[in-house]
Amino acid sequence: MKTIKDIIQLSAEYLEKAGIESSRVDVEWLIADALKLRRMDLYLQFDRPLDEEQLAPIRARIGRRAKHEPVQYIIGNDEFYGLEFEVGTGVLVPRPETEILVDRALSLLKQGNSMLDLCTGSGCIAVAMKKTREDLDVFATDLSSEALSYAQKNVQNNEVDVKVLQGDLFESVLGMTFDGICTNPPYVAETEVPEMGKDVVKHEPHLALFSGNDGLDIIRKISSQGKQFLKPGGFLITEMGPAQGLSAVDIFKSDGWSNPEVIQDYSKRDRFVLAFNQP
Ligand code: GLN
Repeated sequence: MKTIKDIIQLSAEYLEKAGIESSRVDVEWLIADALKLRRMDLYLQFDRPLDEEQLAPIRARIGRRAKHEPVQYIIGNDEFYGLEFEVGTGVLVPRPETEILVDRALSLLKQGNSMLDLCTGSGCIAVAMKKTREDLDVFATDLSSEALSYAQKNVQNNEVDVKVLQGDLFESVLGMTFDGICTNPPYVAETEVPEMGKDVVKHEPHLALFSGNDGLDIIRKISSQGKQFLKPGGFLITEMGPAQGLSAVDIFKSDGWSNPEVIQDYSKRDRFVLAFNQP
């Protein structure tokens, strides 16, 4: 009978041949999930033989990964800001760099402030903020009902009070004003498809990724509409693509926002713009 060690080895080779770069780590996550173990437990049980009944769920998971489905979709959850989020087809997998946006927004919000997470997707930004700062009044909106069902589940599973609303951009919060708006909107340029990973292009929702020829269509709308949903002195922080810093700052400047500033990610790439609604 093959042992856990053998199966890890064989599966990693198989995924590598299928063009998966992170094959070894992915295999460990998927086998641990199939056997209901923690990843490090695999190492403690390397020589444990696996029978046919235990191999079947492993094969199913490895087969899906070989088709470039993201590991997080196969396992059904992901970690963001130290919290667990359910994810799956129809919702973007949370990216670690978005935690920078959460940190910056939290540093700007005062006791009892209100904030809106626009294009919330899985709800990761809104939930992380409310979980860290219970004093905040947190709203989350998205156009996609599929995404919102994940957001709702993630609000419940993390036991936070976040108001989840459906609508295109600001549609569901007309007439309201907030102290801060945070957003990770679609911002990928359609021309970038050839350089993107298969995992992303084949499996993640295009509605959450793409935004016109230069990727800035939605950010333009957010910039032109956003100020009327902010209190005087309120801020907006948006994620964006690494090549969009200067263009995004120009958009916010020409719409009359104060002090638009580019914030970089851990690899020193331009990834966010912060701007204020000065009275
Ligand atoms: N950062 C994502 C990517 O690399 C895109 C996220 C978005 O468009 N909001 O694919």
